[in-house]
Amino acid sequence: MVKWLLVIGLVVLVVLLMNKVGRQRAVGRQRAVPRQPEAEPKVEDMVRCHVCGVNLPRSEAILSRGRFYCGEEHRRQDGA
Ligand SMILES: [Zn+2]
Repeated sequence: MVKWLLVIGLVVLVVLLMNKVGRQRAVGRQRAVPRQPEAEPKVEDMVRCHVCGVNLPRSEAILSRGRFYCGEEHRRQDGA
């Protein structure tokens, strides 16, 4: 009788341990998933210098009178 109680107790213990491990694995999987915004490649608009025709990102270009320039020098050269 005591032997059966020990066996049942052991089985319950094993089941509880397995549940705990399973839950920890699930949490680990959830943590590994969310990482998209940093890996996403950001494509910036490319614009063309009105004087020399070089392509450069819009954020680095100088906009004057609706025309883009690669630098202050070319903007002045175009008389804008
Ligand atoms: Zn230029």
